[in-house]
Amino acid sequence: MAEVEKIDVFWEEGMLKHDMGRGVFDTGEDPGFIDVLEKHPENGDRIRNMLSILKRGPISPYISWHQGRPASISELLSFHSPEYIQELEEADKAGGKMICSATFLNPGSWEAALLAAGTTLSAMKYILDGHGNIVYALVRPPGHHAQPTHGDGYCFLNNAGLAIQLALGSGRTKVAVIDIDVHYGNGTAEGFYNSNEVLTISLHMNHGSWGPSHPQSGSIDELGEGEGLGYNINIPLPNGTGDHGYMYAVEELIVPAVQNFEPDMIILIAGQDSSAFDPNGRQCLSMDGYRAIGRIVGDLAKTHCNGQLLIVQEGGYHVTYSAYCLHATLEGVLNLQSPLLSDPLDHYPEDEELTEKVVDSMKKYYETNVPFLKEITKEQN
Ligand SMILES: [Zn+2]
Repeated sequence: MAEVEKIDVFWEEGMLKHDMGRGVFDTGEDPGFIDVLEKHPENGDRIRNMLSILKRGPISPYISWHQGRPASISELLSFHSPEYIQELEEADKAGGKMICSATFLNPGSWEAALLAAGTTLSAMKYILDGHGNIVYALVRPPGHHAQPTHGDGYCFLNNAGLAIQLALGSGRTKVAVIDIDVHYGNGTAEGFYNSNEVLTISLHMNHGSWGPSHPQSGSIDELGEGEGLGYNINIPLPNGTGDHGYMYAVEELIVPAVQNFEPDMIILIAGQDSSAFDPNGRQCLSMDGYRAIGRIVGDLAKTHCNGQLLIVQEGGYHVTYSAYCLHATLEGVLNLQSPLLSDPLDHYPEDEELTEKVVDSMKKYYETNVPFLKEITKEQN
């Protein structure tokens, strides 16, 4: 039997200093008639549990720990505009600012954001320097909604986008991004919308645009532009899709796209808010679904990138189940034969047929409209 690999995890304690306060869910508001307000869903507790499950859960023997670091301002400019970075610095100096709906830069937030960006850059550099194959950046605040010129959806800096720029600057020419967070990875897509060097693929619930900070719809016609035409593949899935439907979408749409693209680097954008119990999502993945996706993405990395895979933490707001789903994803990536951890919440039925019809129609659309997928279809026929 082949030797089981390990996962190098990059983390820095200071990311817990970011605190978006309490309110009615993520609004930050106290209407005056609710006695018990809740923590903002993007809080430190969710990450504390991800940290502890990797430190003390059954997967812990497979984990090596590494210290993260803050990004420098000049590093941020590879993805973000100087004006936007200046806005964030000034907001920090002024003692805080609401950057957009439900996204609050408070005292400690900027330090945490710089740590999330720098820690993700360190994780990518570890791969690029040949020190590790499977590397996970356990970071917050999340990043995949942050666009070059503005923040969005709890995100200030696009951690993965910065890591992609580092890979491109280090000689990689084909980076594939697979985003399984329940929301559209609009920030990453926007950053590379005109590039054929970065294939951004996002599986998400069909939530559409949500205001000025998130003008993108996440629909199938957002294909990229110019040289980047065809290199953004959106896979909006019906609410309640579940494990079976996600696997169908991964096998029918993601695997062929990645195979045809032939990446030299793969990044898995891991959000556990696609789980069945997430307060922010309407999809129904269980630990089995995450495990299966992890296994397929790990296989793609082995086939195309000598096993090199960067995993970047994004959303995931159920305080305990997100940690379990992360554990399952990493078990899958490691291709462990039997589950190390059983699912405490896996007892809900799912509709298996609806998503197959939706995925079949998206497949037909992409094979008609995306040149690099068209050619493959021709070869097969
Ligand atoms: Zn999300």
